[in-house]
Amino acid sequence: AAEEGFDLEDVEGAIEEAGHGPLPVLAVVGRPNVGKSTLVNRIIGRREAVVEDRPGVTRDRVTYEAEWAGRRFKVVDTGGWEQDVLGIDASVAAQAEFAIEAADAVVFVVDATVGATDTDEAVVRLLRRAGKPVVLAANKVDGPSGEADAATLWSLGLGEPFPVSALHGRGTGDLLDEVLKALPDAPAQTFGGLVGGPRRIALIGRPNVGKSSLLNKVAGEERVVVDATAGTTRDPVDELIELGGTTWKFVDTAGIRKRVHLQEGADYYASLRTAAAVEKAEVAVVLIDTSESISVQDQRIITMAVEAGRALVIAYNKWDTLDEERRYYLEREIETEMQQVSWAPRVNVSARTGRHMEKLVPAIETALAGWETRVPTGRLNAFLGELVSAHPHPIRGGKQPRILFGTQAGTKPPRFVLFASGFLEHGYRRFVERRLREEFGFEGTPIHISVRVRE
Ligand code: GDP
Ligand code: GDP
Repeated sequence: AAEEGFDLEDVEGAIEEAGHGPLPVLAVVGRPNVGKSTLVNRIIGRREAVVEDRPGVTRDRVTYEAEWAGRRFKVVDTGGWEQDVLGIDASVAAQAEFAIEAADAVVFVVDATVGATDTDEAVVRLLRRAGKPVVLAANKVDGPSGEADAATLWSLGLGEPFPVSALHGRGTGDLLDEVLKALPDAPAQTFGGLVGGPRRIALIGRPNVGKSSLLNKVAGEERVVVDATAGTTRDPVDELIELGGTTWKFVDTAGIRKRVHLQEGADYYASLRTAAAVEKAEVAVVLIDTSESISVQDQRIITMAVEAGRALVIAYNKWDTLDEERRYYLEREIETEMQQVSWAPRVNVSARTGRHMEKLVPAIETALAGWETRVPTGRLNAFLGELVSAHPHPIRGGKQPRILFGTQAGTKPPRFVLFASGFLEHGYRRFVERRLREEFGFEGTPIHISVRVRE
């Protein structure tokens, strides 16, 4: 490394940063208009500007990566909640419940200028039941005169209220210091903390694609699919199901069951639920309803799983409904709309007839194997060496940036760091990714490539 112009410390630092495991999750919850989104924006700060743009992929994010005092974590923003669907109390409760479930720690935001309301008290009860660490943010304390308002929030029984102004940044540093104390290093409830347990599957997809039908089919039993008390009951959320001789954990199955209140106009609810399931799983099985056109919403759900770095299987459901014409158009749609995840194993199934159910487990196993693949450094560099000489980066401004060497910094999903003599263009990075996949497989897994440029 040294003779290539990188010092060892740079290299080690880059590998450590790129190779991080799953990040702990912080949920920001509270009533509408207390300032949750403003606070989330402050917490994620400049990092959001750095996200890579992927053409053809719509963003509709609920989770963001953040960093404070050198520690990285994920933030779940619940600010986009649609209140009308359930009425205010139920919707705040449901929203908080899902976010809390997926989180390792919670920031509970209260508007200090208003004080604690009944809705706030209801959230406090949920927080108590969940037993997750909570940091209480007394927001809208824009100056010293508001501190007294913040102090009244001791009455909530959640410990010290941290007076902050999400808008101006006042007090947010102290709040984040407290958050770091509350957050574990690795997410406790995802696979990071549970080595050797059953593999975790999130069965996701937009409403009516057939999630509960598929779950019923694979579980081999009919179950109750109507749950009238949306969001407020505590169903067992994860379900152990034996398939192909192995026990799998289907996470967040309560969200799969029908919730009659929420069949219409609750996109945000669905997004949050999906994000929560994805956070808890190792592999996402995304269902697509082949009787309809592939939609932006389908792509959004896939993007969530990919951005969360989960292994991915795509199940094209309702295959029994296809006639020859629809099938022709479906294949065209898959070619154009699903191109960005052409690496994901595909199964064509029918939850109704049971068609190809036996192909689901092998596809999941393939995706998990890709997700855990580690390429030895020697092989990787032999491959990179050949690639660079056969397909050099285009010359730009008289210079030709070159990949000098690389290493795989982590798995689940595979993460690579490439060290280069100059800036590598987006197109070239994509080319490198494509070639890496051709060479080493990585079926069913997103891969991350970060590039370090020699100063
Ligand atoms: P959310 O619904 O909880 O996500 O709330 P928002 O983040 O959308 O904020 C609601 C309103 O409160 C917006 O008009 C914000 O500008 C305002 N707000 C948020 N934080 C503060 C703050 O610290 N001080 C003041 N004065 N206003 C704030
Ligand atoms: P969910 O909202 O994703 O859980 O979807 P459901 O499992 O409730 O299914 C929605 C509708 O699609 C129901 O009427 C199911 O009977 C129907 N459905 C599910 N899978 C299939 C399938 O493979 N073929 C056909 N023809 N219909 C299906």
